[in-house]
Amino acid sequence: MLRETDPHIDALIEKEKQRQMNGLELIPSENLVSPAVLEAMGSVLTNKYSEGYPGKRYYGGNVFIDEIESIAIERAKKLFGVSHANVQPYSGSPANHAVCFALLNPGEKLMGMSISHGGHLTHGAAVNFSAKYYVSVPYATTQDGWLDYDLIESMAKKEKPKLIFCGATAYSRIIDFKRLSEIALSADAFLVADIAHIAGLIVGGVHPSPVGYADVTTTTTHKTLRGPRGAMILCNGNPSEPLKAAERSKENIPTLIDRAIFPGLQGGPHNHTTAGIAVALKEAATPAFAEYAKQIVRNAKALAGSLMDYGFDIVTGGTENHLMVLDLRGKNITGKEAETALDEVGITVNKNMIPFDPRKPFDPSGIRLGTPFLTTRGMKESEMKAVAEFIAKAIELRSDSAAKERIDADVRELCSNFIFYS
Ligand SMILES: *Cc1c(COP(=O)(O)O)cnc(C)c1O
Repeated sequence: MLRETDPHIDALIEKEKQRQMNGLELIPSENLVSPAVLEAMGSVLTNKYSEGYPGKRYYGGNVFIDEIESIAIERAKKLFGVSHANVQPYSGSPANHAVCFALLNPGEKLMGMSISHGGHLTHGAAVNFSAKYYVSVPYATTQDGWLDYDLIESMAKKEKPKLIFCGATAYSRIIDFKRLSEIALSADAFLVADIAHIAGLIVGGVHPSPVGYADVTTTTTHKTLRGPRGAMILCNGNPSEPLKAAERSKENIPTLIDRAIFPGLQGGPHNHTTAGIAVALKEAATPAFAEYAKQIVRNAKALAGSLMDYGFDIVTGGTENHLMVLDLRGKNITGKEAETALDEVGITVNKNMIPFDPRKPFDPSGIRLGTPFLTTRGMKESEMKAVAEFIAKAIELRSDSAAKERIDADVRELCSNFIFYS
C-alpha cells in the first residue's frame, strides 16, 4: 500500500533495510527489534489519544489502551524489580528531562559524567537543557577513562548537588551503583541511574542492577533491551494522590515522576510504542534473552581482544559490557576519517571523544563500537574475529580502492549468512 501511496518513501525504506541487512551495524546504541515488536509499532494504536494514566484518562475509548499500558507497566515492574514504572516517556532524553523537572527547581545543581568522557547530553552537557536550566557540575573520568569514584565523592561533598546522574553512553566498564549510592546519600542528593545502554545486560544478569541503590532509574527501550524507540522511568514507592506535601522528598518520587511526564512535559502517550515496549519486555523475560545478553558481552570481549591484536588501543584497555571506545591516535587516523573509511566498506560506527581528547567533538580521536545489533543477527566470537580483521584492513588500506572493494564484498558475504527479518 505504501508503494502505491508514496513510492518515494517506500523505496527509501527498502534501501535502508538493505543497508541494515548488508552491512555491519556496530553502533552500540542500535539494535534489531523482533517482527512482533515491529508489528505492534505499525498498528492502529497510533490512532488513539489517551492523555493521563490507566483508569485516569482525559479521553474516552481507552479501555484497551488501559489494558495495554497496564501490561507494559506490570512487566517492567517485574523485570526490573521495582514497585513503580512509567512507560510513557517519548524517548530517553525526555525521560531524563522529566526526572530533572520532577526533582529539581530551576537553578539547582546537578552532577553527571562529562559528555566528553562518556556521559550523555542530558546529564548536564553545556549545550543541553540540563545545563541551561540547572547548574551543571560534570565529573571527569581518570586519565585512563575509568569512572573516578573518589573524584565523584569529593566533588559531591564540595558542590552539594541536589541530583547525581550516573550511567553513560560510551563507557565500557561495570558501574558500581552501590558506591555511587553511598556518595549520593552522604551528599544528600538524589541518585538517578540512567541505564539506557545497559538495560538489556542488566535484565540478562551480566551487569549489576541499580535498583535498590538509585532513587530513580531511567532507561531507553531501544538499545540493548531491543524494544521500540521509547523509554521508561522506574522507582520504588507508590504514587499518592494528592501528595501529602508537594515537597521533593524521596517518598513523593513516584507521584512527582508521573506528574512530570503528564501533564508536566508531555501530552498523549504513543500507544503503539507502549504496546511495542510490552512485547519487548515479554521477550526480555525469557531465558533466550538472558543468553543473548551473555553473548553480547562475549562478542564485545572477542571483538576488543582481536582489535588489540591488530594494535588498536582501547580506552580502559578492554570491555566488560557491550561496547568499546577505540583510541585511534596510535593509528594516525582521526575518528571522523575512520568513520568514513569504515562506512565505505559497509561497516557502521560512530566517531567518539576519548577521555581528555586533544581533538574537537566533530573530529575526535576515537570511534565507538558495540555488539548488540550483530549479536541479534546471530553472530558469535568467530565472526567478531572477522569483523576486527575487516576494521583493521579498512583503516590500514583506506587509500587503496581495490582493497576497499574486496573488503566491502567480504562484509556483504559475511552478512548474507545471518538473519535479518527472513
Ligand atoms: C541514548 C541515551 C539517552 C537518550 O536516549 P534518546 O532516546 O536518544 O533520547 C539517554 N541517556 C543515555 C545514557 C543514553 O545512552
